[in-house]
Amino acid sequence: MTQTPPPPPGRVRAEIDLDALRANVRSLRARAPRAALMAVVKSDAYGHGAVPCARAAIEAGATWVGTATPQEALALRAAGIPGRIMCWLWAPGDPWREGIEADLDMSVSGMWALAEVTAAAREAGRPARIQLKADTGLGRNGCQSADWPELVAAALAAQAEGTVTVTGLWSHLACADEPGHPSIDRQLTVFREMVAYAEGEGVDPEVRHLANSPATLTLPESHFDLVRTGIAMYGVSPAPELGTAQELGLRPVMTLAASIALVKRVPAGHGVSYGHHYITSEETTLGLVPAGYGDGIPRHASGRAPVMIGGEWHRAAGRIAMDQFVVDLGGRKIQEGAEAILFGPGTRGEPTAQDWAEAADTIAYEIVTRIGARVPRIHLHPTQA
Ligand SMILES: *Cc1c(COP(=O)(O)O)cnc(C)c1O
Repeated sequence: MTQTPPPPPGRVRAEIDLDALRANVRSLRARAPRAALMAVVKSDAYGHGAVPCARAAIEAGATWVGTATPQEALALRAAGIPGRIMCWLWAPGDPWREGIEADLDMSVSGMWALAEVTAAAREAGRPARIQLKADTGLGRNGCQSADWPELVAAALAAQAEGTVTVTGLWSHLACADEPGHPSIDRQLTVFREMVAYAEGEGVDPEVRHLANSPATLTLPESHFDLVRTGIAMYGVSPAPELGTAQELGLRPVMTLAASIALVKRVPAGHGVSYGHHYITSEETTLGLVPAGYGDGIPRHASGRAPVMIGGEWHRAAGRIAMDQFVVDLGGRKIQEGAEAILFGPGTRGEPTAQDWAEAADTIAYEIVTRIGARVPRIHLHPTQA
């Protein structure tokens, strides 16, 4: 059995359990056995640290790594992440040439992007790997079916002149977290049609892909050649309706913990934090949790945010400030330095990211992703057992 190490000292920290991440990657691969797995590590791996998470995912069998921006992808390559790295959110003037030289797979959603990437390929003197993105119904990025023939023809012409290689055809789902939503079948149909059209014109993609985490977990017909998993890899359920992390066979990767910075007695009728939205009803003990919205703790959860201290739950008393918030410890004997677990796997009874999402009227994706740069990440089990 592995023993939990004692919490390291310090104001606040995010412990990242890379063994849990590896286990999640294996579990997701087992759910999509015929597809390759892309570890989506955009936005610093949803707040978990992109480089160590990409490494751990690759150790557990991910053969692709995905980011939103080219800058994120280039940073991974510069840090020595090997293999296929794909990025999909390009804006005019972005570093196409650097992407070509770093061997990235670069998504193209429209004619402007194809023009920029072919120009960069001519300068670089080598072809760019591109993947054509179809809008099959999400209504966000991607090429509309009406514009698809023009984009496919232009990409094939660029491939014939040696400036691009079309490595993939892909799209993204709007409502995969709501199984049975009628848009899902519609998007699957449109995706098959758009892929068939491109293949009929002569595109020979290495990978066709559509599934995010909820689709990987619930919709095998969406798996195609590759699944792109983000949130599930971090052990967070994509939606409470799909089940808890545990019910989905996933282990939460991030634990956010702080050290109680001050404990003090105050009389009845004492206002607590900005605006005095909490007033003590009797003489009591207050505990100071030294983490706030400057660390990515949502201020919107003021008065509701849960935290476990010495095995018991408390709620933020009054406003969450930039750097700190307060809990009313009642008559409990808690000392400075005691561990306050804001969220974690829940296996010791502590709140989860989902509990915080409910307290802040948001989704658990946002809770983990918004944890700020001021919070040190402590990567546990950096090398595979
Ligand atoms: C973020 C993202 C994913 C991963 O989504 P999860 O629901 O976190 O698995 C997959 N594909 C694209 C295009 C994305 O932007």
